[in-house]
Amino acid sequence: MTEQNFPVHVRTRFAPSPTGFIHLGNIRSALYPWAFARATGGDFILRIEDTDLERSSQAAVDVIIEGMAWLGLDHDEGPFYQMQRMDRYKEVLAQLQATGHVYPCYMSVAELDALREKQMAAKEKPRYDGTWRPEAGKNLPPVPEGVQPVLRFKNPQGGVVAWEDKVKGRIEIRNDELDDLVIARPDGTPTYNFCVVVDDIDMAITHVIRGDDHVNNTPRQINIFRALGKEPPVYAHLPTVLNEQGEKMSKRNGAKPVTQYRDEGYLPDAMVNYLARLGWSHGDDEIFSREQFLQWFNLDHLGRSAAQFDEAKLRWVNAQHLKAMADDALAALVAPQLEKRGIAAADLADGRLPRICALFKDRCDTTVALADWAFVFYGAVLPVEAERTQHVTDAIAPALDALADALSACAWDKASISAAFKQVLAAHGLKMPQLAMPVRVLVVGTAHTPSVDAVLELVGREKVVARLRNR
Ligand code: GLU
Repeated sequence: MTEQNFPVHVRTRFAPSPTGFIHLGNIRSALYPWAFARATGGDFILRIEDTDLERSSQAAVDVIIEGMAWLGLDHDEGPFYQMQRMDRYKEVLAQLQATGHVYPCYMSVAELDALREKQMAAKEKPRYDGTWRPEAGKNLPPVPEGVQPVLRFKNPQGGVVAWEDKVKGRIEIRNDELDDLVIARPDGTPTYNFCVVVDDIDMAITHVIRGDDHVNNTPRQINIFRALGKEPPVYAHLPTVLNEQGEKMSKRNGAKPVTQYRDEGYLPDAMVNYLARLGWSHGDDEIFSREQFLQWFNLDHLGRSAAQFDEAKLRWVNAQHLKAMADDALAALVAPQLEKRGIAAADLADGRLPRICALFKDRCDTTVALADWAFVFYGAVLPVEAERTQHVTDAIAPALDALADALSACAWDKASISAAFKQVLAAHGLKMPQLAMPVRVLVVGTAHTPSVDAVLELVGREKVVARLRNR
């Protein structure tokens, strides 16, 4: 899709409820509307749906904002908070009242319960029966004293509400299936479905891209749109994201907050790539850049079935991005991790870090793994004990001492280090692995590293010689 050829000025939104820490399943509902806005040259709006006062928290809002910033899902407007828009909702409510789309209902909770029980006993779907709905020629019950009514929306009777869902295709609901929704509580506060519609109108949203747990709300919302004299936006309801056990992903069953992936060393572009594929496809393409994704993204290739999260696949995608990333950029991500582990920023600025990243990035799938390797170049080394016992034997001790001597005196570059090895191997009648393995264990901590001369050069003469001697 190109920005020039999209017929309308697209405005999308992400409207999370800050009632738990946002996880990957939720953030995918931010990625697609963001991508669609960016792909079409439109606007992306962030709206915090914080009307559930008991369950909403500032900490959850912070994770949303932090997680989106980390992933580069930048918004053009907002964040707007629903709790700060109450006056506006009340104003629109008054408008609906004035046009006769809303009526007071005095049915008590006990009466509602009794009604529900009766309907259930008769095997009917529980629904409000319209007792207080005003109709021409109908006598309403006497208004009970001292009862604050709720306000109900006068849902149209007869006919259907239909929309062309960009994911699910045409959906049609008969109006008779929908009862008259409560849109204001006895204390006058508006309810969820009403606020969403007012916001989507005021924010001029053209495309609502959200989780399919909202499909049941959509016909109600469409009717409210029309009562307010507006046409509803285009809807795309995304299938659920399942966790590795095949359950709906949720914090309750172990989903991690998005920001934890940052802390575990995942790259934002890899996350965007992985999440993009979790419910959308471009042929068989698995690895792509953010730019590529935005060039390809449209609403026509959203998947219809639930997508399943797979951490091993995410790690693989991350490893591909890590390999492809420029060494300087990787070093910029690894440096703060090393600082957190106590390495001084000045030491990290000696120019080695990008070269260390270049040497190790092929064998790492996260920047945390890369930082683990890089650490021994600046901090202390702690050889894996089993490997030390296996490789650093008494028999090899004289050769290690000789190598330490040779490395103290030679020029400090790969070729000279390699020559020092050859000289010691020849003098002691050894093969390369017999010497290289213990050297690696002592200098880097483990016997499996990239080419030993390249590694030693970057560790630096002083550290190498000391580690070979203090064994
Ligand atoms: N606040 C809703 C949620 O977090 C989203 C509502 C919407 O996108 O319309 O599930």
